[in-house]
Amino acid sequence: NGGGGQKRWIGLGVLVREYASLSNLDKQYFGFPGEILMRMLKLVILPLIISSMITGVAALDSEVSGKIGLWAVIYYFSTTIIAVILGIILVMTIKPGVSQTADNIDRTGTTPNVTTTDTLLDLVRNMFPENLVQACFQQNITKEYKIVGAYSDGINVLGIIVFCVTFGLVIGKMGEKGRILLEFFDALNEATMKLVQIIMCYMPVGILFLIAAKIIEVEDWEIFKKMGLYMVTVLSGLAIHATICLPLIFFIIVRKNPYTFTLGMAQALVTALMISSSSATLPVTFRCAEENNRIDKRITRFVLPVGATINMDGTALYEAVAAIFIAQLNDYPLDVGQIVTISITATVASIGAAGVPNAGLVTMVIVLTAVGLPASDVTLIVAVDWLLDRFRTMINVLGDAYGAGIVQKLSKRELERMDLTSDVDVANP
Ligand code: ASP
Repeated sequence: NGGGGQKRWIGLGVLVREYASLSNLDKQYFGFPGEILMRMLKLVILPLIISSMITGVAALDSEVSGKIGLWAVIYYFSTTIIAVILGIILVMTIKPGVSQTADNIDRTGTTPNVTTTDTLLDLVRNMFPENLVQACFQQNITKEYKIVGAYSDGINVLGIIVFCVTFGLVIGKMGEKGRILLEFFDALNEATMKLVQIIMCYMPVGILFLIAAKIIEVEDWEIFKKMGLYMVTVLSGLAIHATICLPLIFFIIVRKNPYTFTLGMAQALVTALMISSSSATLPVTFRCAEENNRIDKRITRFVLPVGATINMDGTALYEAVAAIFIAQLNDYPLDVGQIVTISITATVASIGAAGVPNAGLVTMVIVLTAVGLPASDVTLIVAVDWLLDRFRTMINVLGDAYGAGIVQKLSKRELERMDLTSDVDVANP
């Protein structure tokens, strides 16, 4: 019983907190099993993205991959906009920032100094890595990511994706000669998924220690009281998006029970909640989507890695809510034009955010500056970001998974046509 187990471990975290004054070293030991899980998951991301994207694209003819790509982009875009609108409606109704002022809230952390142009340029810059090996461990990003703690030494997922899509298209067009490469990457993909299977046996232990270690670490519980209503607004927005908006779209298009689908993704959702990173959750997302929800590998290989990088409904919703919350704290009136600006910039900011912890907090600055709010006010929400980040990452991952299910349904005809015309199917041998 996973839920019961997790409760026990939260209890353990609180107990250890209460009755033992742990030194920093002890805390580090306590978090160690969780750290190992994170390391294992991050380890398989690279071979997984490379092998899945290349085989995913090469196995489809360009017309089919174009269609799948188009449906995916339409889905990503429309659900992100829905999330933003939902966030705006909630924050304008609940008004979490109206009863207090910015002066009552402690400011923690330093202000990142990012502009919209910086982020957009970074986005495009990352798409064209100058060195493939470097792209495997480093992104080209403004130094500001470091300041707020969003780590900058992550993989340049976007660059790798762009390279693999292009490479996959080329291999696909090479005919017999390209076949060796295609078979190589297909075998690599299968082997990596076997590794993921092994890691998943260790996951319950790793995840329980991650929870307990985090509880020990939290110093300031008071902040939850001060920021309570803001957190309730973000969390209820995420909950509505996950339990009503996305399931409704899924049901209308796919005509299957969306909640069974969500249940199939449970392991990926818990992982996202624990590690706050859509990219690092990707191995688990793949397994849940393919094995539990039986989504065609030709779809998952394409839709999931791209989704983990650019489709972030949770982040978009959070950014819109946070910006308006900050405006309310400052008694700063927003007109309709500014609200529209917030929805557009929140969408751009979520696309620009990397799938790593706290990335949304950095791109938040774009939204604030676009409507004339001080960028330094991002420090007002830093203290609770570690918690909100976990939940929005969970919704980001759920959005990607639903996307795969929906794009599969929409591309059904093309996929069936391909099954009829090709005798060997590399993606689904
Ligand atoms: N942590 C989020 C993710 O990986 C990004 C964010 O900070 O919103 O999906």
